[in-house]
Amino acid sequence: MEKNCDILIIGGGASGLACALSASNTAGNPRIIIADRMPRTGKKLLATGNGRCNMSNLNLSEKFYHGTVSVGSLISEFPDIRPFMGALGLFTYADIAGRIYPLPNTAASVSDALRLAVEEKGIDVLTDCDCSQIKKENGRFTAITSLGSIKARTAVLACGGMAAPVHGSNGSGFVLAESMGLELTPPFPALCPLTAEGVKGLEGLRSPCKAELIINGKTLAAEEGEVQFTKSGLSGICIFNLSARFNNEPCSVKLDLSPRLPISELKSVLFSALKARSNFEAQDGFTGVFPRQLALYLLKRSNIPLSKSCSMLTEKETEAIAETAKALSFKITGRSGFDSAQVTAGGVKGGEVNSDFMAKKVKGLFLCGEILDVWGECGGYNLHFAFASGIKAGKSAALFLK
Ligand SMILES: Cc1cc2nc3c(=O)[nH]c(=O)nc-3n(C[C@H](O)[C@H](O)[C@H](O)COP(=O)(O)OP(=O)(O)OC[C@H]3O[C@@H](n4cnc5c(N)ncnc54)[C@H](O)[C@@H]3O)c2cc1C
Repeated sequence: MEKNCDILIIGGGASGLACALSASNTAGNPRIIIADRMPRTGKKLLATGNGRCNMSNLNLSEKFYHGTVSVGSLISEFPDIRPFMGALGLFTYADIAGRIYPLPNTAASVSDALRLAVEEKGIDVLTDCDCSQIKKENGRFTAITSLGSIKARTAVLACGGMAAPVHGSNGSGFVLAESMGLELTPPFPALCPLTAEGVKGLEGLRSPCKAELIINGKTLAAEEGEVQFTKSGLSGICIFNLSARFNNEPCSVKLDLSPRLPISELKSVLFSALKARSNFEAQDGFTGVFPRQLALYLLKRSNIPLSKSCSMLTEKETEAIAETAKALSFKITGRSGFDSAQVTAGGVKGGEVNSDFMAKKVKGLFLCGEILDVWGECGGYNLHFAFASGIKAGKSAALFLK
C-alpha cells in the first residue's frame, strides 16, 4: 500500500527521532513518517552508556570529533541538549567528568521520552519497515520499503552507520546515500577493542592506566582511563578512543599500569613490599601493590621465577618489575569488527552536505547522525551529534517545505 507524507525519515534512532520532533515543532505542521527496519525505534539507544545512556557532555568541543564533517557551527548552535530533553519531560545529571546522563539513570528513560513525544505529536511510525531503495522523480522522493512504497516531498537519511548492526544500523543507509550520488569516506569500525599479542594471563583484568598508541616509535595518541584485558586483546574506553587512530600499520599500545605512582616511587614501594614479605615467594611478594593476576604476569614478563624467594630477588629484578609495569607494550594485530564497535568512522563526506544538513547534490534530501563522516570520542559526543544534527536537519527539512 502506497503512503504519502511531507517528510520521510528513514531510521528511527537517536538522530531520526530528534529530527522528527524538531520537524513537527517547526511551523507548517508537516505530515511526517519515520520508517525503521527494526521492530521498535531507538533500539541502539537502550544499549548506550552500559544501559545508562551518556547522552551528551558539558565539555563540548570540536577537538573531540574526527572526520570530514565540521561540527563547530553545530556545537555553537546546540551547545546543550538539556533544554530539548527537558521539554520532553526528561531531566539529567552530569558526573564529575562532565558526562550527561538521564536523571533516572536508565537509557530506557531517554528512548521512552522520545517515543512518547513522537506518539503525542501524531507522527506516523512504521516499524519492521526496511527501506531498500530511494529515488527522486519530478521533485518527489519515492522510497521502496518492505511495507510498500512511500512518497515524500523531502527525505531524511538517519540510518546510522554499520556499528552494532544487531541494533539496526547495517550499512544500508550508505547504499541509499550512494544511490543518490553522494560520496562516502570508506567506513571502518571506531570505538572498538583492539586485538593484541601477549595478553595471555591477563584476561578479565581491569586496571587504571595511561595508554599510548605507538607507531614507528612515535606516540600517535594517548589516553587515560581503565583498560580491560580480553581473551584477544585490549578493551575499555581509553582503548576505544585509540582504536580509530589504528590504520593497519604495525603498531603497539604501551600501558602504564601504575599511573598513580611515578617510577621512582613505584620502585621504592616494591622494595618496601619485598622487605615486608621477605619470607614469601615472589608470586606473593607484590600482591599488596598490584592485583595478583597482574603481579604474576609482570614476574613472567620480567623472566623471574614465581617460586623465587623474595629475599633472593635482586635490585635489578625488582626495578625491572617496576619498569615493566610502567611501560608494558602489546603488539596490536588489528581492531575488532563492526559487531563490537560503538560507532562507524567514515560515511557520507562532509563536503556533500550544507550547514543545514541538506545534500548539496539532491535538493530536499537531508542527512543526520552517524551516516555522516564524523565520529566523536567516548563521553556522550556521538549522541550529542546525533541529537543536534537530527534537530537541525528536521528543522531544515520543515523550512524547506515552506
Ligand atoms: C553499545 C553502544 C554503546 C554506545 N554508547 C554511547 C554513549 O553512551 N554515548 C554516546 O554518545 N554514544 C554512544 N554510542 C554511539 C551512539 O549510540 C550512536 O552514535 C548513535 O546512536 C547514532 O545515532 P543514529 O540515529 O545516527 O543511528 P542509530 O542509532 O544507529 O539509528 C539508526 C536507525 O536507522 C534504522 N535503519 C538503518 N537502515 C535502515 C533502512 N535501510 N531502513 C529503515 N531503517 C533503517 C536502524 O534500525 C536504526 O534504528 C554507543 C553505541 C553502541 C553500539
